[in-house]
Amino acid sequence: PSEEYENLRRRIHSNTKEFWYYANHELGKLMHESDKEAKIRAILEQLSDRKSTLLSDQEKLSEMDGYHEWRQLEAANVSDLVQRRLHYLQNPPDCREARKLICNLNKGCGFGCQLHHIVYCLIFAYATERTLILNSKGWRYNTKGWEYVFHPISESCLSSYDDKVVQWPVSYDAKVVSLPFIDSISQKPKFLPLAVPKDLAHRIVRFNGDPSSWWVGQMLKFVLKPRLPMQKAINDTIAKMNFKSPIVGVHIRRTDKVGTEAAFHHIHEYMAHVKDYYDQLELTRPVDVRRVYLATDDANVLDDARQKYPEYTFLGDPSIAKTAATHRRYTPLSLTGLLVDLHMLAMCDYLVCTFSSQVGRVAYEMMQSNRVDASNSFFSLDDIYYFGGQNAHDRVAIMQNHGGKNEDISFEVGDKIGVAGNHWNGYGRGTNKRTNMNGLIPWYKTADHLVLYPFPEYKQVPI
Ligand code: GDP
Repeated sequence: PSEEYENLRRRIHSNTKEFWYYANHELGKLMHESDKEAKIRAILEQLSDRKSTLLSDQEKLSEMDGYHEWRQLEAANVSDLVQRRLHYLQNPPDCREARKLICNLNKGCGFGCQLHHIVYCLIFAYATERTLILNSKGWRYNTKGWEYVFHPISESCLSSYDDKVVQWPVSYDAKVVSLPFIDSISQKPKFLPLAVPKDLAHRIVRFNGDPSSWWVGQMLKFVLKPRLPMQKAINDTIAKMNFKSPIVGVHIRRTDKVGTEAAFHHIHEYMAHVKDYYDQLELTRPVDVRRVYLATDDANVLDDARQKYPEYTFLGDPSIAKTAATHRRYTPLSLTGLLVDLHMLAMCDYLVCTFSSQVGRVAYEMMQSNRVDASNSFFSLDDIYYFGGQNAHDRVAIMQNHGGKNEDISFEVGDKIGVAGNHWNGYGRGTNKRTNMNGLIPWYKTADHLVLYPFPEYKQVPI
């Protein structure tokens, strides 16, 4: 390592201790003092500053000594390999004879949900070495089908001819199999998310902090290729905006979602994280304009945000939000706007959203395929990342915990803990699978448990 690397590493070590000296001293003093509110506020400000410095130093560390370039190259190579494997799978030498998997695009839900349905089908196809046939006649976003909006997912094999179709699960090796929705599949195969291919995992983890969503992002990258008219419509809308880095993407999902599938979140909850992002960025570079790309299905949010936060410049198209706010959201009219929003959110430097929304999750997954590693470039106000219908998501204990102090549970190193969520206060909630105890878990004592599955290795495709 270089001199700069060693110096920075030592600086982070020393400043982490300084962080604690400060907190310990100030909070200790506070115990005996009156008029606490103003003092606590000042302490929090100091702590936030010190935290930002530490994070910013760590960020620099990750870019030093050519590591950044190495990761960039490796990410591009692995992505390219996955795309070529998918291309190979989708273009069999003899389409007539190829084993196929049929995916019906008739799921009665929004576009984010439908994209995830296709991702599920494509992962299924990849795992079972079947060419995916997308059956999209009568599709709600274009009755003529997916292929009229996006490039087809195969150049040479788009039909199962008149072959007999058998519904999954099948007890014999049927030639053409049709998939149910992920929600209603009996006995979920182990290759479903959040599993990642075993033969690629050791490469992915070296450049990306969240391989599961990176893998999903690769599926989206393969299928989401707008045809010329759609691409032109997207480009035209984007050309009208002054989209420039640095920029933070904010997705605010309201209307029918609130109260049914997610809680209401006020604009200031999102903006607090936008402010954090810019405050930290300003430690290393001047920021002349604090730009925010705002995507929403609530027609009033953009005006409201501009009024409440005049020190920020908001980008966004009110007509897109207006269309999204109405029942028209399931029509072709809404599709262009949503694709613009997704595309823009995924290009932002940082994303603030709610992962309870499939739109928020798709934006993050696309972000993951746009860059080397987006796993530290988002904040979800509610759920941790998940894939609807996924297999169990565990964390594994990397340190022992003696529970009981804070309603937290006990665990030993190596215990698997099924997680329900992170409370973003230092604790999450989960169940120790060894003891069956459910309660709070100090998040820092656990790490994500990555599930590796022996997917086919597609040896025919050169590495
Ligand atoms: P979810 O309901 O948020 O989990 O996601 P879905 O994609 O299944 O359905 C929500 C639908 O609302 C989307 O497909 C869009 O049509 C619309 N929508 C939600 N958020 C936005 C947004 O930020 N921009 C636009 N243009 N549409 C949105």
